[in-house]
Amino acid sequence: MAAPLIQPTRHGLYCAAGDFHIDPWRPVPRALITHAHADHARPGSEAYWSLRDGLGLMRRRLGGRACLNTVDEGERLQFGPVSVSFHPAGHVLGSAQIRVEHEGAVWVASGDYKRDPDPTCAPFEPVACDTFITEATFALPVYRWPAVETVAADIHQWWHNNAANGRTTVLFSYALGKAQRLMAALPAPHPGPIYLHGAVAPLTQDYRDAGIELPPTHRVSEAPGDEDYGRALVIAPPSAAGSTWMRRFRQPALGFASGWMRIRGNRRRRGYDRGFVISDHVDWPGLLQTIEDTGAREILTTHGRADELVRYLGERGLDARPLATLYGDAGEDD
Ligand SMILES: [Zn+2]
Ligand SMILES: [Zn+2]
Repeated sequence: MAAPLIQPTRHGLYCAAGDFHIDPWRPVPRALITHAHADHARPGSEAYWSLRDGLGLMRRRLGGRACLNTVDEGERLQFGPVSVSFHPAGHVLGSAQIRVEHEGAVWVASGDYKRDPDPTCAPFEPVACDTFITEATFALPVYRWPAVETVAADIHQWWHNNAANGRTTVLFSYALGKAQRLMAALPAPHPGPIYLHGAVAPLTQDYRDAGIELPPTHRVSEAPGDEDYGRALVIAPPSAAGSTWMRRFRQPALGFASGWMRIRGNRRRRGYDRGFVISDHVDWPGLLQTIEDTGAREILTTHGRADELVRYLGERGLDARPLATLYGDAGEDD
């Protein structure tokens, strides 16, 4: 049997035939990056390749001096005898699946991905392959996402009610991807202005610079100290919850937007008034559909529920194995 085309090493997922890594966790000579979340795009490598759409986000993550090569969707690159192309993953702006072909064998490393509509990034494109490396963040049957429009309407109604009572609406969400997707999904007209935490504002600007249309926003850091946030929606990262930064808002109503909110109890345990189920990861039905769409005979799983997914797929006759990686540890993108 031939050696695997891609396998984990001390530095990350390595393709020996092409001498490159995909989303390495340690610095390497050549790093092919699926997307800008911290567990996938780590600084320090000599050269990077990623989709053009995510260039601004990638620069912010990797530093202004990083050597970044941009790739167009579907463009063929050659690394020695290995042919590589990037295809949309539908996860966040510029997110890619990486297709690797060598001597007739095709592997796809999908990174994080989702199948639900998202106006802030290109939609997931199923890519036929022999071996599919998939995430397993929400790989349990309980994880099924409601329609995004329904969730956005719920958030809008909650914001409206809070504004009518003079309470600031604070919605915690991951700063890269989720925050921008929420803003794009909120139906207009809004009950009040949108304010952004300092961790969310620059990333939102990167989206606008890439041509993604988003509603107008203000930075909390640029507002006067006596600003009245009574009708405002404030979008902040979960790390801001319980911090002194929150003291400027009177009687804030607190919400959290995350796939984890699908589990009853998570909301109360974490002290939020409201939980909204919205995720930038694939849900259970979407995951199984995607594996079928690729036609892959071999499935390698990463992130979270890797072992559970392997067991499920194995019982259905697929050749499935967990792949040891450091993905999913950053806790910033569910
Ligand atoms: Zn991610
Ligand atoms: Zn990830």
